[in-house]
Amino acid sequence: MTIAPASRAERTPENLPDRIRHVIGGESVDSLSGRTFEVLDPVSNEPYLRAAAGQADDVDRAVAAARVAFDEGPWPTLLPRARARILNRIADIVSSRDARLAELETFDTGLPITQALGQAQRAAENFRFFADLIVAQSDDTYKVPGRQVNYVNRKPKGVAGLITPWNTPFMLESWKLAPALASGCTVVLKPAEFTPLSASLWADIFREAGLPDGVFNLVHGLGEEAGDALVKHPDVRLISFTGESRTGEIIFANAAPTLKGLSMELGGKSPAVVFADADLDAALDSTLFGVFSLNGERCTAGSRILVERPVYDRFVERYAARATRVVVGDPRDPRTEVGALVHPEHYEKVMGYIELGKSEGRLVAGGGRPDGLETGNYVAPTVFADVKPEARIFQEEIFGPVVALTPFDTEEEALALANGVRYGLAAYLWTRDLERAHTFAQSLDCGMVWLNSHNVRDLRTPFGGVKASGLGQEGGYRSLDFYTDQQAVHISLGEVHTPRFGTGADE
Ligand code: NAD
Repeated sequence: MTIAPASRAERTPENLPDRIRHVIGGESVDSLSGRTFEVLDPVSNEPYLRAAAGQADDVDRAVAAARVAFDEGPWPTLLPRARARILNRIADIVSSRDARLAELETFDTGLPITQALGQAQRAAENFRFFADLIVAQSDDTYKVPGRQVNYVNRKPKGVAGLITPWNTPFMLESWKLAPALASGCTVVLKPAEFTPLSASLWADIFREAGLPDGVFNLVHGLGEEAGDALVKHPDVRLISFTGESRTGEIIFANAAPTLKGLSMELGGKSPAVVFADADLDAALDSTLFGVFSLNGERCTAGSRILVERPVYDRFVERYAARATRVVVGDPRDPRTEVGALVHPEHYEKVMGYIELGKSEGRLVAGGGRPDGLETGNYVAPTVFADVKPEARIFQEEIFGPVVALTPFDTEEEALALANGVRYGLAAYLWTRDLERAHTFAQSLDCGMVWLNSHNVRDLRTPFGGVKASGLGQEGGYRSLDFYTDQQAVHISLGEVHTPRFGTGADE
């Protein structure tokens, strides 16, 4: 089923800004060059907004403001409880406005409204979670034999550069902003150029919650300009980046001369492995949701489904039938399950993979633009069966509503297929055999495994990938560790038992 979008006028949220600027030291400012760039609405692909296009001189100003806020305080030296109070206020504001935030995010990204609402609520939760965590964090103190005490002095690292992607931008920004601010860092955020709107919403929320000026700074702009300058800036101590693996490689190289701390959440091509003994109804529901929710623009999408041979044909048949019935269309309609992809450039990329897939696999659902949606970045949920492991649609991240199904005969073969890509973000296992589930999970080269479940997680658990999917993991105390220096202080409580040098007789 498809749902045609309403006219542009009917779809446009009230009071939608048509111009957004940088936020530097609490001021809303244009680029020094005066340059701007256009932002498109993914349903019509018409421009609706101009954003300031930041360059190295704008980044310099933002980093300087963050540096002053860090060096002169009070943010880094506030008691954790005081910072937590502001973080909780931020969470309350986000919760009280979740419908409006979801409406704007949907307009900007093309995400289905119900899913955008869930992401806004999760953003509030991220702030509450890190507010609690920073208060609960205890100091590490160690007693050492010989009357010594050692303790760990946790200090916020300084100015953190946060670089974020366009998929679920509001929530992913919160996943970096909340721990960075909780730790006492000051920040410069460089949001994705396809979707800069939500970052500007943060600026208003922070001001209202009482975050001191200069603690949060925002520079819009292209990755190769504003992002690049942030990564190379000598006063930025660390970069938390989420985006493509190729961009991660460039950032890794550019951050090297200034030896920055790096946390990288990168791309994925995650397998869902369905054994014949699984609850196949649950596996079907979960694997459909796993690749088609968030328009398939999800880093942890289970975009390769490996199915044990005895149940493969029936699974493919049921999967294709369900995929064909997924509701595609107007992102603002609560019935919509797949909205419009973020940008025509990304749409072309996904469509290119679909064309390629027609020669690499057997098309059993979708395969192009859905009937009845003649404009906008709409893609019918697309399913390829019998995809061989050497196919590009098996190996490469497509980041859209496209899935590859592949049969396997043995557990060894399933493991080789699951691990046989350059990525290692997530995996999903469906089996009733718990012994097999655990041994298989432990042999997977990936950062996160879900057994008979999908994407639900406690925020204390590590989040991140291995191989080309990331560097370092965030989540819980790991995030706080990333944004802080941990200085060990060793104190004697009495007599000092130092070996005595230089007490020999004179020659
Ligand atoms: P992208 O790498 O193109 O861009 C991400 C950000 O990096 C943007 O803000 C961009 O402007 C900036 N950037 C680009 N070039 C840069 C450079 N040379 N220096 C500094 N900054 C630069 O990624 P995208 O297309 O926006 O996002 C989609 C990708 O993000 C997918 O690969 C997806 O899997 C990944 N992702 C990963 C996770 C995760 O947690 N692992 C979560 C969400 C998205």
